[in-house]
Amino acid sequence: MNMILNNDFYFTILTIWIILALFTFFVLLIIKPSTYGRHIDKNRLSINNRLGWFIMELPTVILMPFFYFINSTDCNPVILFFISLYMLHYLNRVFVFPLRIRTRDKKIPILIVFSAILFNTCNTFLIGYYFSQVTLLYDLSWFFSLPFITGLIVFLAGAYINHQSDTILINLRKGSKNGYKIPYGGLFKYISCPNHLGEIIEWIGFAILTCSLPTFAFATWTIANLMPRALQHHYWYKENFTNYPQERKAIIPYLI
Ligand code: NDP
Repeated sequence: MNMILNNDFYFTILTIWIILALFTFFVLLIIKPSTYGRHIDKNRLSINNRLGWFIMELPTVILMPFFYFINSTDCNPVILFFISLYMLHYLNRVFVFPLRIRTRDKKIPILIVFSAILFNTCNTFLIGYYFSQVTLLYDLSWFFSLPFITGLIVFLAGAYINHQSDTILINLRKGSKNGYKIPYGGLFKYISCPNHLGEIIEWIGFAILTCSLPTFAFATWTIANLMPRALQHHYWYKENFTNYPQERKAIIPYLI
């Protein structure tokens, strides 16, 4: 079975997708909507938090191989490597992260879950479909190219920062209830949300190592989603902890 789109049509959708990311960035920055976690509006229709994470991230691991293999029987090792990186990140997010978080009895709004499913489906389609169409662009020499090596280092550094910071946050609730504490350690010395910074670095690395427009779009979306959230977290910490470290920035050390 094949699902081939007209190139112009695909790139029109992709352009709209990038414009939408920029629009979302400014909307989230200005409106500061109630979302999930500490910023949840408890009056919204919600489901169990862990279940929500599982459901909303699940499309990524199903649809990435689907959108690739529906169109391509060509097992290009470079593209399979790209897909493996994406899958590794999301296998963790779908099957491991929801089991690690300590959010017993906490809920996540259904609206957030639906919008994340929509986002993940569009994003995975745009990347998976692109990979299925460009096997000729990447041969084995790509593994030795500057973008690949640089991007891979950036990707791995981002993944490390993201994982380390999420682990510090999760451990804050060891043996206690669902409350919040001031996190210390790792990049928390400099910023309030290194987990979000790590995620952003990771997908910027992915965009560099693949040198492609849909992965660049994904990095833009990640910034659009996570920068406003990090700023919201930062102000929340300052409002709720009188002893919050003054020198700590929100998401970029010494700057923002
Ligand atoms: P948060 O930093 O809001 O929370 C992470 C976990 O740690 C939650 O379980 C949270 O509990 C808990 N936690 C956070 N701060 C504290 C604290 N001070 N004291 C005690 N517990 C705390 O991250 P998100 O939930 O927004 O995101 C989770 C992961 O998903 C991150 O790695 C993020 O980068 C990634 N992500 C990626 C997106 C993308 O567009 N690529 C979009 C959204 C998230 P609680 O839920 O109760 O607040």
